[in-house]
Amino acid sequence: ARASGIGGWAVFSSDMGQVAEHRQWIESELHAAFQRGDFDLHYQPQVDLLKGRIVGYEALLRWNHPERGAISPMEFVPIAEETGMIGPIGEWVLHKACEDARVLPENCFVAVNISPVQFMTKDFVRYVRSVLEKTGLDASRLELEVTETAMMQDKERAAAILRELSELGISVAVDDFGTGYSNLSYLMDFTFQKLKIDKSFVSRIEKDNGGAVVSTIVGLSRALGVHTIAEGVETEDQATLLRAAGCDVFQGYLYGKPAPLVIRDGEAIEVRRV
Ligand code: C2E
Ligand code: CA
Ligand code: CA
Ligand code: CA
Repeated sequence: ARASGIGGWAVFSSDMGQVAEHRQWIESELHAAFQRGDFDLHYQPQVDLLKGRIVGYEALLRWNHPERGAISPMEFVPIAEETGMIGPIGEWVLHKACEDARVLPENCFVAVNISPVQFMTKDFVRYVRSVLEKTGLDASRLELEVTETAMMQDKERAAAILRELSELGISVAVDDFGTGYSNLSYLMDFTFQKLKIDKSFVSRIEKDNGGAVVSTIVGLSRALGVHTIAEGVETEDQATLLRAAGCDVFQGYLYGKPAPLVIRDGEAIEVRRV
């Protein structure tokens, strides 16, 4: 909204009012939506080009409201984090994803987004372990995507949590890498297995210094001894440049959009193409 002239201000303020109203609506609806079972997980493949196959699937939360339809996690996750609803929702996501992973091909892991709030919760590691026990999923088939912002809040605690996860055999990918304030020296103290290049870098890879920026991230991954995964890969040209930069694993619309998991005959499964 732009505030231009006298009428412009009116437009501006009514837009602001609508945003606040929508926000409040989400806040008041989240609990009921969760109880009602509006939430669902979609899965998006992660492809290892050297192995020439899908190695994992990222679980992405979907909210389908009976009247208002799909509401983006970019809208409701931050609100769920503020209100605390991310607690129960996040637990549900982890449990459901681990359950679903058991019907995915055995050589694939499931990658689950962990909110900073969840990551710093007391007993987070114990909870993760209990979910693995309950669902019978092997720790090696779970990957947690944790943002660098989450890790930087309380670095010593984060380092301890990451160590415990690693001891359990759970791998961690640093999500949205490069988009927040990152302290590279602390990164060296953290135990994790992957850096995930944010799609904002991938979409700019063909422009100006975009290629050099991505090469630098891959170089950093190598120095740290971890793998690099790129998200938001949409075109062959982007994939070619990422490959040239030394990126290992690819995820994006080029390989598959997030889609619901379809289970047939209790065993045979597929991730439906959309
Ligand atoms: P994210 O973890 O960075 O996820 C990547 C986003 O990029 C996803 O959006 C995905 O659908 C989208 N994407 C995948 N491939 C492409 C592509 O080729 N092009 C473009 N333009 N986009 C692509 P989505 O599903 O809307 O999720 C948005 C954000 O919401 C996620 O960003 C994550 O921060 C959060 N989120 C989603 N599910 C969960 C969850 O279960 N728990 C938590 N805490 N956060 C979640
Ligand atoms: Ca449902
Ligand atoms: Ca993610
Ligand atoms: Ca991202």
